[in-house]
Order: sequence, then structure tokens, then C-alpha cells
Amino acid sequence: MIADKLIHVLNGVRETGEGRWLACCPAHDDRSPSLSMREIDDRLLIHCFAGCDVNEVVNAVGLELSDLFPEKRTTKYNKSQRLYFKADDVLEALQDEITMLQKIAARMNISEFDERLALASQRFQSARDLI
Ligand SMILES: [Zn+2]
Repeated sequence: MIADKLIHVLNGVRETGEGRWLACCPAHDDRSPSLSMREIDDRLLIHCFAGCDVNEVVNAVGLELSDLFPEKRTTKYNKSQRLYFKADDVLEALQDEITMLQKIAARMNISEFDERLALASQRFQSARDLI
């Protein structure tokens, strides 16, 4: 629980509800509890009714604001482990697909489509020659 880090170092802590506390504010001379804390999910909301800044409150007990936030989840994605396709392999696969479409177009006797596919195939071959 995030609130535990702060509650254990504050004076006059009183639970006012589930996930809610009042305590003496450590950032000013607080004689009656004026620090309100509320835990929502994994966040702790802090408010001093005397107007202290949340950083002042947290720093007064030797903590940083980041101590009250859950640790950042680290992604399992590792860019260095990413698999890349070689450009030549991709172009070769696309050229094979075009060849297949050319054969289908020829069977269907669609000459315009066949000519356009021939042009695309030439372009893929030119691109592969540049790699
Ligand atoms: Zn205060």
C-alpha cells in the first residue's frame, strides 16, 4: 500500500474511512490534523488544508513525491531483440506475389492488369538490384 510509506512517519494519523486518513502536516506547525490523504487505486492523493504544497509535505518527512507512485512498469519489449526482415527478402516475396497475380491475370485474359503487374514486377526487381 502506497499510503504506508507516509502514514508511518506522520503524527496524529487517524483513519477516517477506507483508504482515507487525516494527519498532522509535517510541513507546517500543525496542532490539529489538517493533512488529508486518500488512496485511490495505486495513487495517494495528499492535501493540506493550510495550503502546503504536496512536495513540501513529502519532503518534510524525507520522501520524494516519486516514492508515493508505483514503480513504472517496464516493458518486456526490447528493441535490440526485434526481428527485422531484410529488405531484399521482402521485395523477393512481393515479387513472387506479383508473379502469381500475373499468372492469374493471364489465365483470366486481363491484359491491362497483366501489363500493370509486369511493370510492378520490373520495379521490384530494380529495387532489389539497388540493395
Ligand atoms: Zn501543511
